[in-house]
Amino acid sequence: MEEKFLLKNVMSASVLPAPEGYASRLEYWEHTTGRKADKCAHEICQRPATEGAIATKAFSTDRHRYVYPACETCARRTEMLYVTAPLAPLP
Ligand SMILES: [Zn+2]
Repeated sequence: MEEKFLLKNVMSASVLPAPEGYASRLEYWEHTTGRKADKCAHEICQRPATEGAIATKAFSTDRHRYVYPACETCARRTEMLYVTAPLAPLP
């Protein structure tokens, strides 16, 4: 059973460049997790993942920013969303 996280996208972070040494945040996520980013990680979405979204954990004292694979729509959602994928902490 895949672990599930309740996340809130950090909209202001979407313009940030990819972590150093990576062509994109999606590539960073794949390298960090060892997984293939094929599908959007939003639990009720079936679209392909096209970008690495940036989010924080909702209702958590953990203020770290994480990358998860998302479609264009889910990467821009302003409401909290459940994500079923490993999270790659931003450096
Ligand atoms: Zn999606």
